[in-house]
Amino acid sequence: MRQIEADTITQAVERLCMEANYFLGQDVVDALEQSLKREESPTGQQILRDILENARIGREELSPICQDTGFTIAFVELGQEAEVVGGSLDEAITKGVAQGYTKGYLRASIVQDPLRRINTKDNTPPVIHVEVVPGDRLRLTVMCKGSGCENMSRFAMLTPAQGRKGVVNFVVETVLKGGGRPCPPLIVGVGLGGTFDQATYIAKRSLLRPVGSHHTEAHIKELEEELFEKVNATGVGPQAWGGRTTALAVHVETYPCHIASLPVAVNIECHSHRLKTTIL
Ligand code: SF4
Repeated sequence: MRQIEADTITQAVERLCMEANYFLGQDVVDALEQSLKREESPTGQQILRDILENARIGREELSPICQDTGFTIAFVELGQEAEVVGGSLDEAITKGVAQGYTKGYLRASIVQDPLRRINTKDNTPPVIHVEVVPGDRLRLTVMCKGSGCENMSRFAMLTPAQGRKGVVNFVVETVLKGGGRPCPPLIVGVGLGGTFDQATYIAKRSLLRPVGSHHTEAHIKELEEELFEKVNATGVGPQAWGGRTTALAVHVETYPCHIASLPVAVNIECHSHRLKTTIL
């Protein structure tokens, strides 16, 4: 059994929280640059240039690319031949978030109780998802998820008879309902199938894929392409000022589902797509 020190995990999470907030991923930068070439609206073009300039400033000055530094979500793939020693995995990650947000001067955005609303002051606790996988490594991804876009996410239990058309309509309707509130251009994560909980989980997990990558199954890739076309045909555009660039990508993940169900979850992500991964 390979041993991984809890403190190593804490240090990694601390670093990833800061890097995610300062450095917009190259896949997002590339997608923004590609969109700028396609965008016809002068206002939309200017907004895309501003977003790229904002990313440059964040990178060069080590400052957060958005004031909403997000809810920290840790995705852990833990090899079944690895064990965490010197502390618990949850505590190690939580401590890393507290250290990263404090040392990095990142805004603390989490309240301890949804009704009493007292700020925890260090952005803890994170949401932690753990999957056990073959091997002896620990793959750790930190996502810092803004609330403006998370708030525009939706879920529906469609009937199987509503099928593919129902899914397409629901995704496009979700983007239209969000308008400018999730700060488009967006990355739209769609979870199709599973149960109520699984659909929302795979919708969020789809956001871990490189922006603009496609599903390996041909019919899901086609669905992603159709959704991308239709979402961008809404005309919402960058920051809802109109234009062709409403989304940088649509990612769809699927899971088997019950004969009587067609769950669909849409997790909306903004262009401040903060995501960093390490392998320990
Ligand atoms: S939706 Fe995204 S870009 Fe807009 S304020 Fe929230 S984190 Fe920032």
